[in-house]
Amino acid sequence: MSNQTIETDYLVIGCGATAMAFVDTLLDESDASITIVDRHAKPGGHWNDAYSFVTLHQPSAYYGVNSAELGQLRIDNAGPNKGMYELASGAEVSAYFERLMLQKFLSGGRIRYYPMCNFDEVGNIVSLLSGDTVHVRVNKRIVDASNFSPSVPSTHKRGFTIASGIECVPPNALPQLWMHRDSGARVRQFCIVGAGKTAMDACIWLLRNGARADAIIWIMPRDSWLQNRLHTQPGEAFFLDSIGGEADKLDAFAHADSIDDLFARLEGLGQMLRIDPTHRPTMFHYATLSSGELELLHSIQNVIRMGRVRAIESGALMLDGGRVTMDPDTLYVDCTASAISHRPNEPVFQDGRIVIQLLRAPLLVLSSALTAYLEAHGGDDANRNRLSVPVPFPQDLAGFARATRMGMLNQHNWSQEKALRQWMRQSRLDAFGKLVAEVDKSDAPKQAVLARLRNNAMAAMGNMQQLI
Ligand SMILES: Cc1cc2nc3c(=O)[nH]c(=O)nc-3n(C[C@H](O)[C@H](O)[C@H](O)COP(=O)(O)OP(=O)(O)OC[C@H]3O[C@@H](n4cnc5c(N)ncnc54)[C@H](O)[C@@H]3O)c2cc1C
Repeated sequence: MSNQTIETDYLVIGCGATAMAFVDTLLDESDASITIVDRHAKPGGHWNDAYSFVTLHQPSAYYGVNSAELGQLRIDNAGPNKGMYELASGAEVSAYFERLMLQKFLSGGRIRYYPMCNFDEVGNIVSLLSGDTVHVRVNKRIVDASNFSPSVPSTHKRGFTIASGIECVPPNALPQLWMHRDSGARVRQFCIVGAGKTAMDACIWLLRNGARADAIIWIMPRDSWLQNRLHTQPGEAFFLDSIGGEADKLDAFAHADSIDDLFARLEGLGQMLRIDPTHRPTMFHYATLSSGELELLHSIQNVIRMGRVRAIESGALMLDGGRVTMDPDTLYVDCTASAISHRPNEPVFQDGRIVIQLLRAPLLVLSSALTAYLEAHGGDDANRNRLSVPVPFPQDLAGFARATRMGMLNQHNWSQEKALRQWMRQSRLDAFGKLVAEVDKSDAPKQAVLARLRNNAMAAMGNMQQLI
């Protein structure tokens, strides 16, 4: 590929879930040529670097791209997700994207894909293996599909120091412990560092694989509110939990007199969960858990709430809040990578550029496919941007109200556009759109839920501004 020049309509930076969802819809809705460049060897972005026991925390039913089902819409009948829609493993997500790349993207002749390549600041594709360079002439737009890019434990830069001789591993190393430890040299103590979804996954993996709860110490810098997965289910059997749950949620937004009151109401409704009812959470990042998973986490009693880890020394942990003595034979599991983007929002559609961002939190892949739809059919950029106001990802609890309000405003604008409304109703990525659209006019109980949803939405919008 040395010193070639190529021409393309769109150049997409990144080949993670955001890019895949965008390209899939743009392929279906236009006849454009598209070039994709990514540093990873395979599509899927961070899923390539994930720990082997990672799964989606939302149902597979509405993750991935618009044109292809992920999984089989099965209900799990065992494990902590029992009774709910299946959650694809990281390996399934990667295989799904790889199959899509081979069978749809590369077979049509409109896509060029450059894996193991960097897109540099002067607009060249540079191979990470050979250094060869391809210059790209972009006819329409450069698409930044790397805006969200979560950081994951196996590739991030740690924010704390470790003394020599300390064993500190990413969660990726846990399933390999069998190689290094026979029963005589088992780990006496595990210390999970971090309080996000990855830390929860690591705790649950340990407990489900036979570690004793009293052998786990959990460093929890902040407590987090968690979404109850029961209320995120897409199927008709879950109508009352999901759509009824949305109506309840909006009622809480309509009547809460403070952000704390809002979360208390949502907890009362069973919408929000927390690890420990005696500690007030200060963050919410849409981490989603089942009550079965929560029950497992409740068995861990050794929780240290003394802020962030600054250093791990031999036999001690240095935290923001002081020093804690530790068993020298502790295996530390680093779960501190932040899966959250801190880049400020900017207009999605710009001259020669698209920056894909969240349009309805937390549905990143829906937002991405919708952005491609707007690129193909949204008129001029002023109109496209009117229909795609970026939703700021919550950085604090009030951020949840901000993100919900912005998402509802977008949703209202989408519902006013006939063709877009129809596209959304067909989209598998819109968790609840189809469920709502398919309610029979003669089904009085469900129609009553929809009426409650509409009324509560109006009241919620009125109160949200005050809450924020
Ligand atoms: C453990 C985990 C579980 C999650 N579960 C869910 C879930 O259930 N549901 C949900 O909606 N979301 C979930 N998320 C959120 C997740 O962030 C998104 O779903 C999505 O995978 C993010 O994809 P992305 O394409 O934006 O970023 P990435 O996966 O990071 O992909 C971006 C890609 O861009 C490439 N890149 C960046 N810059 C350049 C450059 N200059 N040149 C070349 N390549 C470049 C990177 O190499 C990378 O491959 C989860 C996140 C994590 C960490």
